[in-house]
Amino acid sequence: MTSPLSSPWKLSAALAAALGAGAVLGWLVGGHAVAGIALVAVAEVVLLLTRIRHQTQAMMTAPATASPLQHDRFMTRSRRIASSLRDLRNAAGQLPDAVVLLDGQQQIRWFNHAAENLLGLRRPHDRGASLQQRLAGSELAGWLHDGAHEPLTDATAPGRADSQLNVSLLPFGDHEQLLLAHDISHQNRLEQVRRDFVANVSHELRTPLTVIHGYLELLDPEDVPELAPVLDEMRTQSKRMGQIVEDLLTLSRLETQHEVIDERVPMAALLATVRKEAEALSQGRHRIVLESTAETDLLGSPKDLHSALSNLASNAVRYTPAGGSITIRWQRVADGAVYSVSDTGFGIPASHLARLTERFYRVSSSRSRESGGTGLGLSIVKHVLNLHQAQLKIESTPGAGSTFSCHFGPTRLLAPGNGNES
Ligand code: ADP
Repeated sequence: MTSPLSSPWKLSAALAAALGAGAVLGWLVGGHAVAGIALVAVAEVVLLLTRIRHQTQAMMTAPATASPLQHDRFMTRSRRIASSLRDLRNAAGQLPDAVVLLDGQQQIRWFNHAAENLLGLRRPHDRGASLQQRLAGSELAGWLHDGAHEPLTDATAPGRADSQLNVSLLPFGDHEQLLLAHDISHQNRLEQVRRDFVANVSHELRTPLTVIHGYLELLDPEDVPELAPVLDEMRTQSKRMGQIVEDLLTLSRLETQHEVIDERVPMAALLATVRKEAEALSQGRHRIVLESTAETDLLGSPKDLHSALSNLASNAVRYTPAGGSITIRWQRVADGAVYSVSDTGFGIPASHLARLTERFYRVSSSRSRESGGTGLGLSIVKHVLNLHQAQLKIESTPGAGSTFSCHFGPTRLLAPGNGNES
C-alpha cells in the first residue's frame, strides 16, 4: 500500500507496484488480473479517503497556534492525496474491463469508460440509478436479481450485442460491491477458429483415409508374403488414423452442441450391450461383472450415452492386465443414479487425474497406443456428460485399479415404461 506522505514520484511508483502486485495476485488466485488491479485500486481509494478524513480532522482540531510551517505541511499532504486519488480514478477509468462501484442498495456510484461501452451505462444520469433497473431485460439483470452468487460466464454484453462477457460481483467495504465485466469476445472468436480448423481438417482427412484403407483391404498378403508384416502394420495404422478422425469429428459435434434431443435410453439393453462389447474386447482375459440395481432408464441421447458409457468400459479392459476383473454398476443414489466402471488395473497417479479429460492427455502414451487408444475417449465422455448435466468422478490407486463414475441427476431419470421419475 502506498504512503501519501512520500514524494510524488515515490508515490506513483508505489502505486504502480501495488497495482502490479494486485494484478499478479488476481491472476494467481482467480486467473483474473484486472480483478486484482481493481481490488487494489478500491483498497487504495478507501485508504486514501480515510487518510483525508484524518488529515481534515487533524486540521480542524489543530490548535490555532499551529505554526505556518505545520500549516504548509498539512496543505502539501492534502494536495498529494488529492492528486493520488485523481491518478487512481484515471487509471481505473482506463481499465479495459468494465468496473462499476455499487453501494449497499446496488445503486451505481461510479463506473469507468469500458462500463459505458460494454454495459451501456451513461453519465451523468446513470450515477445513483439502480444497476438492475438500468440493465433490465438483460441476462445480467436476471443474474443480479438472483443474487449473483457465482460469476456469470459468456453473457451477452448489454451495451454491445456482438460481445460476450464474464462478470463477477465482489463485495468490499461495509456493504459495497464491485462489478467487474471482462470482454471475452476475442477469446470466443479464437476458440471458434480453432474448432472450425479441427473440424475442417478432420473432414478433409476422412476421404483420403477411406480410400487408403479400402486399397489396403484389397491387397492380399498371400500374394506378397514378404510384405505381409508391412501390410498388417499399415492396416493397423490406417485404422487408428481413421478412428482418430472419427473421434475428432465426434468431439467437434459435441463442442458446438448446447443440448441433446431427449429420448428414452433403455438402460437394461444399453448395459447388456456395453458388457458384450467389453467382453469382445477382452477376449476372455478379464472377469467382467454387471451389477444393475437401479431400475431406471435415462433421458438423453442414446447414441452419445452409448459412446460415453462403453468408452469407460473399454478403457477398463485396455488398462487392466489379463486376469484382472472389471465391474460395471448401475445404481440409484439419494439424488439420482450412478453408472460406474471399476477395474483392478494399472491405476492412475493422483497428479494426472485433473487433466485426464483433456484432448490427447495420456498417462502413458505407449500403453495408450499399444491398446488402440486415440487419447480422445475421456474428452468425449466429459462432453457427453456435460450435455446431460451429469458429473464424472475418477478415483484411482496406482497398481490397484480405478473407478470412473457418472452421476446423473433426478431430472434425467425415467421409470422403465412411460413415467417420469424425477
Ligand atoms: P486413450 O485413448 O489414450 O485411452 P482416453 O481419453 O480414453 O484416451 O484416456 C486418457 C488416458 O487416461 C489414457 O491414456 C490412460 O492413460 C488413462 N486411463 C483412462 N482410463 C483408465 C483406466 N481405467 N485405468 C488406467 N488409466 C486409464
